[in-house]
Amino acid sequence: MVSRVIPVDPFDLVIFGGTGDLARRKILPGLFRRFIAGQMPAGARIIAAARTEMDDDGYREMIAEAITEFGGLKNIPEDKLTAFLAQLSYVTIDAKGTDGWAALQELMKGTDRVEAYYFSVSPALFGDLAERLQQWGMADKDARIVVEKPFGRDLETAKTLNATLATYFDESQIYRIDHYLGKETVQNLMAVRFGNMLFEPLWNAQYVDHIQITVAETVGVGGRGEYYDKSGAMRDMVQNHLMQLLCLIAMEPPARFDPDAVRDEKLKVIRALDPVLPHHIARGQYDAEPGNAEAQPNYRDAVGDPRSKTESFIALKTHISNWRWAGTPFYLRTGKRMSARSSEITVVFKETPHSIFAEDAGRHRNVLSIRLQPNEGITLGVTIKEPGPGGMRLIDVPLDMSFAEALGEDTEQVDAYERLIMDVIRGNQTLFMRGDEVEAAWAWTDPIIQGWEARGEVPKFYDSGSDGTVESGELMRRDGRAWREVSP
Ligand code: NAD
Repeated sequence: MVSRVIPVDPFDLVIFGGTGDLARRKILPGLFRRFIAGQMPAGARIIAAARTEMDDDGYREMIAEAITEFGGLKNIPEDKLTAFLAQLSYVTIDAKGTDGWAALQELMKGTDRVEAYYFSVSPALFGDLAERLQQWGMADKDARIVVEKPFGRDLETAKTLNATLATYFDESQIYRIDHYLGKETVQNLMAVRFGNMLFEPLWNAQYVDHIQITVAETVGVGGRGEYYDKSGAMRDMVQNHLMQLLCLIAMEPPARFDPDAVRDEKLKVIRALDPVLPHHIARGQYDAEPGNAEAQPNYRDAVGDPRSKTESFIALKTHISNWRWAGTPFYLRTGKRMSARSSEITVVFKETPHSIFAEDAGRHRNVLSIRLQPNEGITLGVTIKEPGPGGMRLIDVPLDMSFAEALGEDTEQVDAYERLIMDVIRGNQTLFMRGDEVEAAWAWTDPIIQGWEARGEVPKFYDSGSDGTVESGELMRRDGRAWREVSP
C-alpha cells in the first residue's frame, strides 16, 4: 500500500545546531525523505544555523554526505538530491552573542510562510536562542519552536526552562519533541484502543493482569559517556519515553483526537501514578563484554568514573491509582548493552476463569504485544485447538500483524522525526509534550532519584548481552510473573 502524502504549506525551517549529530543523523535525512515523498513544497527553505564557520556550499556537501550515510535509502535519486540541497542554506551564528543574527533576520524578513525554529542544541542554549529570536524580531506569534530532550534534569530545572520559554513564546508555539510519540506503532496504539470495539471494554484492572513496557538497547554509552553519567536511565529514558508510552496505554479515551484533549488525559495518568517503593526498583550497570573488554568496556570505564553510581539499566513496578487501573501493576524496564534492541509494550490479560476441556486442565491468557522497534507491529496471542485428532488440547498462537507486511515497505519509510517535523509545520501539537506533562513526570521521578542519592545506593552489575540485573528478574518472580523475552 502506498502512503497518501498530503503536502504541507510552504515553510521556513531554521535548524539551530544544523551541523550537529542529531541534525545530520535524523533531521536532514528525514526532511530529504519527505522531499522525495513529495511532501515538501518547492518554496520551502531549510536554514541551518550553527557555530561552525561554513558557507552554503560547504553545508550542502556536509548534508549530502549525511544523507548517504544515514538516509536509509538504497538508491539516492541524484536529481532529487540536487533539488533538495538547493533548498538548504547556512548561517554561522552564535547563540550566546550577536554574530550571525543580522544575517538570519535578513533571511527571515518579510516572508509569509510558516516559520519554525528547531533548537537542536544543548538545552543550556534554549533560553539564549528564545531571547535572541525575540530581540531580533523573529518571535512573531505564529512562529513555532521545537525543543529537544533533555527537558530539564529535575522538576526545578524543567520549571525554570518552561518559564524561560514562556517569556518569549506561548505554550501553543512550543513543540517539545519525544520522538517515541512519532513512531507509527505508538500512534497505532491509539488507533487500536480507540478505533476498535474489541479492546476498550477489557482495558482495565478487571481483565488486565499487568502491563510491561521494555525499551532495550544493545549499545553502550559510546561517546556520550560524560553526558550520560550525569543523567542515567531514569532521567534519560523513563522520565520521558517510557512515561509517554505508559500514558498512551493507560489514559482514558480523550473526547477528540486533538492536542489538548489527548494531553489532558495523559497528564491525568502521570498525576495518578503512585510513588515507587525502593524495593520495587532494580538498578544496574553493565559489565564488560566477556573476552572483548577493550572494545566493549564496562560502564564505569566507558564513562571514565570508577566510582560512578549512575544506572545504565532500570526496572521498576508502579501503580496508577484510579478506577480503571487500581491493582494492576505496570512494570517498566530499560537498559543499555542488553541482549537485543527491542521496544515493546505488552498487555497481559488475566487467565480464563475456568477450563471446560478435560484434556486441557490449564487456563489460558491473551497477550497483546505492541512492538515499536524493530519490526513495528502488533501481535495478539490467542488460544486455539491444537490441530489434528486426539481431543481438545489447546495451544496459544500469535495473530501477527507486521506493519511492513500488511501495509507495504513504503509505510516503513516514515521515521518518527520526519513525521513530527511535518506536524510542526502543520501546527499540530498532539504528539508533543506539554509543559505541565513534563513537570508532572519530573515530580514523579524526582523523589525516586533523591531516595537513591540519600541512601547512597549503588547499582548492581549485570552482564553485557543479558537482560539486566538478577534483581530485575526477582521483581517479577516475587509477584509470580516473568518478563517477556527481549527478542530482536
Ligand atoms: P551536537 O553536539 O552534535 O551538536 C550541537 C550543535 O550546536 C552544533 O551544530 C554546534 O555548532 C551548535 N552549537 C553549539 N554551541 C553553539 C552556540 N554557542 N551557538 C550556535 N550554535 C552552537 O549535539 P546533538 O547530538 O546534535 O544534540 C543536539 C540536541 O539534541 C541536544 O539537546 C541533545 O540532547 C538532543 N538530542 C540529541 C540526540 C542525538 O541522537 N544526537 C537524541 C535526542 C536528543
